[in-house]
Amino acid sequence: MAVAAIASQSIIALLSIQMDATPTTPPDIYNLAAQRLKGMPVDWQWFSIESKESPFGRFFQVSGAVPAGFYSRGPRKGRAKWPAKKDREVFQFTPAQVEQAMLAWEAETGNCSTCGGDGQEQFGWSKAEGKRYRQCSRCGGTGKAPQQTLFTEPES
Ligand SMILES: [Zn+2]
Repeated sequence: MAVAAIASQSIIALLSIQMDATPTTPPDIYNLAAQRLKGMPVDWQWFSIESKESPFGRFFQVSGAVPAGFYSRGPRKGRAKWPAKKDREVFQFTPAQVEQAMLAWEAETGNCSTCGGDGQEQFGWSKAEGKRYRQCSRCGGTGKAPQQTLFTEPES
C-alpha cells in the first residue's frame, strides 16, 4: 500500500490569516469535506492527510480535530494545540467526495475555491519575499466559481 504524506498546511493557513489579511485565503478543501460531509464544526481542522490506495481506488485519510487552543508565544506561536486522542477524528474521503464539498462551497459563495475569490493564487514562497502570487489558474483571475470540476479520477 503506497502512502504519501502531505505536509500539514493548516498551520500555514492559520498563520496567513493572522499575518496578512489580503490576498484572500482560499478555503481548505479537506476541512470543508469534514465539515460538510461529516458534520464537523467550522473550527474543525485537519492536522494530517495521507493519500492511500485501496482495491477500490485512491482515498484520503484525514485526521483532525477542533483545536483545544492556540499557542500564544514561543516558536509554535499561532499553531493549534490538538486535543487528546479521544477528541480527534479520522475520516476517509474519496477524491470525488472532496470535490463534492468543494463544488458545494463554490455554488454557495459564487467564488472560485482555488483563490478564494480574489483571482490570485499562491504559487511559491521565498524567505525574502514571503508568499508569491499569480493569476489564478482555475478561474483565470476573475475570482468567480468556474463551471468545471476540480479533478476527475480516471476510470482504469
Ligand atoms: Zn480563482
